[in-house]
Amino acid sequence: MFEKVLIANRGEIALRIIRACRDLGIRTVAVHSTIDSEAMHVRLADESVCIGPPAPRDSYLSMAALVSAASVAGADAIHPGLGFLAENATFAQVVTDHGFTFIGPSPDHIATMGDKIAAKAAMVEVGISPVPGSDAAVESDAEAARIAEEIGYPVLVKAAAGGGGRGMQIAREPTILAPALALARREAAGAFGDSRVFIEKFIEKPRHIEIQILADSYGNAVHLGERDCSIQRRHQKVIEESPSPVLDDAVRAEIGARAATAVRQLGYLGAGTLEFLFDGRDFHFIEMNTRLQVEHPVTEMVTGVDLVREQLTIAAGGKLQFGQDDVRFDGHAIECRVNAEDARTFVPSPGRVREYHPPGGPGVRVDSALFAGCMVPPHYDSLIAKLIVHGPDRPTAVARLARALDEYVIEGIDTNLELHRGIAGDRDFSSGAYDIHWLERWMDGA
Ligand code: ADP
Repeated sequence: MFEKVLIANRGEIALRIIRACRDLGIRTVAVHSTIDSEAMHVRLADESVCIGPPAPRDSYLSMAALVSAASVAGADAIHPGLGFLAENATFAQVVTDHGFTFIGPSPDHIATMGDKIAAKAAMVEVGISPVPGSDAAVESDAEAARIAEEIGYPVLVKAAAGGGGRGMQIAREPTILAPALALARREAAGAFGDSRVFIEKFIEKPRHIEIQILADSYGNAVHLGERDCSIQRRHQKVIEESPSPVLDDAVRAEIGARAATAVRQLGYLGAGTLEFLFDGRDFHFIEMNTRLQVEHPVTEMVTGVDLVREQLTIAAGGKLQFGQDDVRFDGHAIECRVNAEDARTFVPSPGRVREYHPPGGPGVRVDSALFAGCMVPPHYDSLIAKLIVHGPDRPTAVARLARALDEYVIEGIDTNLELHRGIAGDRDFSSGAYDIHWLERWMDGA
């Protein structure tokens, strides 16, 4: 096992990794920008290194600064967390080239899965069906029109390098296709520096269901069930739960086994997630995330598996200590993403937290780096906390969610806690009857 791990991240996810390292007796090195010098991840790590000014490109995205910090601190591995450089194949390569272990999959797998077109092609090879659509970047409007006619409208134009729900345009009819392509190309070039786009069938009312997998370097791969992430705003997840209210044990076992087999065949290493749109009958692959996900705690709560511990063990060359038959699914877990943002406009709301009182009691877990008096800087993601509840069944989990949200006090900055309270108290949410567009419809009517 590693002796010292540098965590190339901040906020709640840095804390999450520090905690897993502590449990394993691994020393930790936090990195921070100048504005984060008092942050909780710096306080809880064994050591810390300042890596630059607040702007992410000069600190948390600076490969040179991160690798230098790892050298100075004498770390033997780097955990990228999520966001920032977690899905940057070059970073994984640079880390390895400098003699550190990258806690994650190979640069090749990161590069393939980071390109939605290449990812779909790779998945087809291992028996996973993607959403119907183009199997390469569309070169011209005429070609796009031909593919759209073939798969049928409505279609979605997506950025090959897309992420964070950006670079997507729906075309419900042929006349809209050319403008949608132009818009998506422009958005993709601006956001990702890569204007390649492709076309997919727009699936009307699916659920977003993703499968968590773990694979070691000895050819073992398991799945840890699904997460239903259909409560979304602008294609971004707001609430996630496991199990999905719409899957039964047989369907879970079947799609899970397919996902585990696929990653085994790909020779994938570590934790990963295969994302699907589920139309009630079929699973359509959309993308694979080659890292820990924000919503990983719901899987941890129902399986009892510590995903970060497994990432560390696998990266250190360890074997998975359990097989598929050992994975047990216990009860129900739900996670709310608590963001520092205006409740109505969703504009980020950074600032100083005046009062902080997290909820507690049976079945409640809070992953957050907040404390009373802490600063939420304007430079980073607005996710400030994850509230995760667990119960023996879904109604108990929903009741605990409502209870925990009522207890939660964050003062000094605006948050979306009220939105979560509204959702937790809603009848559709309680019944589990929702799809990926439900939240936006609900907000329009609210
Ligand atoms: P990103 O990488 O930007 O997050 P994804 O491909 O993971 O993009 O898709 C994000 C969300 O966008 C999905 O969860 C779903 O809500 C919506 N979406 C993506 N592809 C489709 C599709 N073909 N039909 C309908 N909705 C889609």
